Amino acid sequence: MALNNSTFKKIQSIVGAGYCSIKKEDLACYAYDATANRYLPDAVVFPKDAGEISKIIKLANSEEFYVIPRGSGSGMTGGSVAVMGGVVLVMTRLNRIIEIDTDNLIAFAEPGVITAHFHREVEKSGLFYPPDPSSSEFSTLGGNLAECAGGPRAVKYGVTRDYVLGLKVVLPTGEIIETGVKTAKGVVGYDLTRLLIGSEGTLGIITEMTLKLISLPETVRTMTAVFHEVGKAAETVSEIIRRGIVPRTIEFMDRASIICVENYLKLGLPVDAGALLLIEVDGRAEEAESAINRLEELCINLGAREVAIAKTKEEAAVIWKARKAISPALFTYAPDKINEDIVVPRSRIPDMVRRIEEMKNKTGLTIVGFGHAGDGNIHFNIMLDKKNREEVKKAWAVVEELFDYTVELGGTISGEHGIGITKAPYMPKEVGKDEIELMKKLKRLFDPNGILNPGKIFV
Ligand SMILES: Cc1cc2nc3c(=O)[nH]c(=O)nc-3n(C[C@H](O)[C@H](O)[C@H](O)COP(=O)(O)OP(=O)(O)OC[C@H]3O[C@@H](n4cnc5c(N)ncnc54)[C@H](O)[C@@H]3O)c2cc1C
Repeated sequence: MALNNSTFKKIQSIVGAGYCSIKKEDLACYAYDATANRYLPDAVVFPKDAGEISKIIKLANSEEFYVIPRGSGSGMTGGSVAVMGGVVLVMTRLNRIIEIDTDNLIAFAEPGVITAHFHREVEKSGLFYPPDPSSSEFSTLGGNLAECAGGPRAVKYGVTRDYVLGLKVVLPTGEIIETGVKTAKGVVGYDLTRLLIGSEGTLGIITEMTLKLISLPETVRTMTAVFHEVGKAAETVSEIIRRGIVPRTIEFMDRASIICVENYLKLGLPVDAGALLLIEVDGRAEEAESAINRLEELCINLGAREVAIAKTKEEAAVIWKARKAISPALFTYAPDKINEDIVVPRSRIPDMVRRIEEMKNKTGLTIVGFGHAGDGNIHFNIMLDKKNREEVKKAWAVVEELFDYTVELGGTISGEHGIGITKAPYMPKEVGKDEIELMKKLKRLFDPNGILNPGKIFV
């Protein structure tokens, strides 16, 4: 299914010569995502709207080439890389916030809008769009929807799918469809919107979305709790949930993540600590004040060695700077990483954290644990040098063991990063044969010629 010259000329005539390229140096810029996987596409194309995308998709079906939708390429599982070659369709020109409807608490936006830009724009109207992947300053709304992104605020507010009311989508056969509603509720027919959210760009290309907004909380309070022992921090997370307290965020950093961020940014973090929790509450001022005080007391009672409540927005920003720096700071340990985002029931977080500690001690590998602990979502990263074959073999054995343990605990092998290519071999650990077969049938129904984002999700 390679792209020949005459087909490329037809693509040029659809989008204009300035919006597509087959130059090696351009292709190289779209050959990667946030994994270490690199696959050079045959062409990179920047369409401006659904009409152009539909024409390209129809061409892909008739002239047989693959199409891979792409937002910012910050995905963690290889979803936007051209594993089998083809045309990478970069969605960043579709970047309009079409309308923020303050009467109905909804917004209409295109997929290339950067998530944090969208946050700031709706907040100007006193409204709030909660989904906030830590990549929000550079990932796109389209990528967030395609992956059903989570983020720190999911503890209280849920994930991306909870805020999507409707979609405009180009199907893999070229038709442009609209799904869902513009109203607060609606149950007419099958829920195609939910099917498409989290489908990793394999069932359709999102070209517009209707998003649900809520009121911006009046106050946000932020605190950190430092623990000598990682197990105590994990038990504290489970206990907060058990007591029915609902912070908007409970983020977890183990010692290895504290150390690498401190080496990277020199913020004065407690490098001798076993773990740190970053907890945030929001709501009316007096409610937030009372909740943060309860949490402070609870953390101390459960063994925190120190608790600090940020007095100003600037102090809170420093704590977030540390949390958001973990991903780049990890590379102070080693040039490569294996990055997983398992989720366990929140009462089982201490068991999982203990097992990760055991694996560290048993294998001698550098395993860094951090993540959205309030959801039971722990990102464990195995830092290694991919040239060291022995280390790589050991690391994949750890992944396998931790996936098995996750499923045994009643968890899931991916909370927000999706399956892409990196987790595809492991999906049968969690999803049954009949369910996988049904998913494959759906894929064939949507995409009979298999042109859209091939090689993803299924092995
Ligand atoms: C430092 C860092 C922190 C991160 N933190 C989080 C986090 O807290 N929570 C979280 O959930 N993720 C997180 N991620 C992962 C990643 O940022 C998210 O998956 C994000 O949603 C991807 O958006 P993107 O625009 O970069 O999409 P891409 O990586 O370009 O694409 C991701 C997938 O979406 C598909 N796609 C893109 N646009 C469309 C479209 N318009 N229509 C259909 N399919 C499309 C692609 O084909 C691909 O399968 C993080 C990544 C990094 C690097």
